[in-house]
Amino acid sequence: MAAGEGGWLESPTDLESFLTEWRGLYRGDTPLVLMPASVEQVSAIIGICAANGIAIVPQGGNTGLAGGAIPGLASSRPELLLSSRRLKAIHAIDRENFTVTVEAGVVLAELQAAVEAAGLYFPLSLAAEGSCCIGGNISTNAGGTNVLRYGNTRDLVLGLEVVLADGSVWKGLSGLRKDNSGYDLKQLFIGAEGTLGFITAATLKLFPLASSRSTAWLAVTSPEAAVRLYSEARRHLGDEMVAFELMPQIAIDMVLEHLPAARNPLGKQNADVWHVLVEFSSARQQQQLDEQLLNFLQQCLESGQVVDGSVAGSVAQRDDFWSVRHGISEAQKKAGGSIKHDISVPVSRLAEFLTRANALVATALPGVRPVPFGHLGDGNLHYNLSQPVGMDPQSFVERWGELNRIVHTLAVELGGSFSAEHGIGYLKAGELERLKSAEEMALMRAVKQALDPQGIMNPGKVLASK
Ligand SMILES: Cc1cc2nc3c(=O)[nH]c(=O)nc-3n(C[C@H](O)[C@H](O)[C@H](O)COP(=O)(O)OP(=O)(O)OC[C@H]3O[C@@H](n4cnc5c(N)ncnc54)[C@H](O)[C@@H]3O)c2cc1C
Repeated sequence: MAAGEGGWLESPTDLESFLTEWRGLYRGDTPLVLMPASVEQVSAIIGICAANGIAIVPQGGNTGLAGGAIPGLASSRPELLLSSRRLKAIHAIDRENFTVTVEAGVVLAELQAAVEAAGLYFPLSLAAEGSCCIGGNISTNAGGTNVLRYGNTRDLVLGLEVVLADGSVWKGLSGLRKDNSGYDLKQLFIGAEGTLGFITAATLKLFPLASSRSTAWLAVTSPEAAVRLYSEARRHLGDEMVAFELMPQIAIDMVLEHLPAARNPLGKQNADVWHVLVEFSSARQQQQLDEQLLNFLQQCLESGQVVDGSVAGSVAQRDDFWSVRHGISEAQKKAGGSIKHDISVPVSRLAEFLTRANALVATALPGVRPVPFGHLGDGNLHYNLSQPVGMDPQSFVERWGELNRIVHTLAVELGGSFSAEHGIGYLKAGELERLKSAEEMALMRAVKQALDPQGIMNPGKVLASK
């Protein structure tokens, strides 16, 4: 068997965890999960599939939020699931070149830890980092909480190794920061959600470990105040800002109610404020960074721009802050039916987006409760909606498509995107057709046709039709 010993699963019990999407939105189907342990095995498997017209759905940690890794959703023909789970090697950390070469199935948190043990830093960080894999991160161009300073995954990839849709292997594991020799092919596969090829390994950028880190939890009166605070903090404290996250009071209430381990970051209940989690890291001494942040916050408190705040006094307190932020999705899930959005707009239009979106969804469904949170510094909010109190969760979730269309149309009207970091997958393939221009759709179809003329790589994902 091309997947090698122990490289496949076919009993229904073994397949179960591969077939259910994290949010429970989709349940898939496949006759076989293949788990190759080398690029040669991946190449052999895809070669056989290509020769026989068999469709393949790549999967990493199965934490994607667009149904992209779930087989059997988009077509009636059987789809094999090709998992990166056994591609686990961290090959080389090049300390002079500040790079690491890693196989696609390495879990993000494992890579962060290995790199840190070598005295370096890999900045991609997201709440799913204990499960998501590097190949999945690259295939979704994951964002996360450090985009402000280090960019999206796209900005962290220097080279890729990819098995193409005919089984041949493109060996592009370059560690170069400068290379203008022809088209930048790796960019095609980053964010392609497994529709153009299977990523087996990558060379990624590393950074020096910051010697100091300051994290503060602040309360402001409105999203407008949060945006003003963001732009002033950036001007005052410069590019040492790594994260600037916005959360409404309702999100904090949900976390405190549903996640028993969570601690209230401000130590007390605040009525109707907006919460900001801001983090700075630096090569300077901790004391210098802390003093600069405290001076800035003192000014903000005196001017009334910030109404309450707490600076993390220890690593444990910093972790507590982040676990509240990272716990929002889970808490919202426990609080009843929820409908998700992953929009971005220019930061300067974020407050306007919130005002208009809140009014539009309230008209469509009186009592709906917006829970918008996320990466304000990137203009990216998870504009999530919780069901009206007392409404049947299932009836609420049935309004998913209708409410998505309202919110997505507004984001695009304001110069934004309807999918900022989670990708298109199966979930938003229809919205891609609705909201992209005919020219963009034609270009995307031309790329798909050139790289996967048989349409065997993750069919029906990203592009609903060829
Ligand atoms: C609690 C939670 C928080 C999250 N927070 C964030 C966040 O802040 N920012 C963010 O961007 N995302 C976030 N996500 C979404 C998700 O974690 C990311 O999209 C992640 O990058 C997916 O990685 P994965 O290994 O789980 O990929 P999977 O879910 O397994 O796959 C995702 C897509 O990539 C394809 N794929 C996977 N591996 C390969 C491969 N080797 N070659 C080719 N294609 C492949 C799949 O076919 C699928 O289309 C979050 C998810 C959860 C559950």
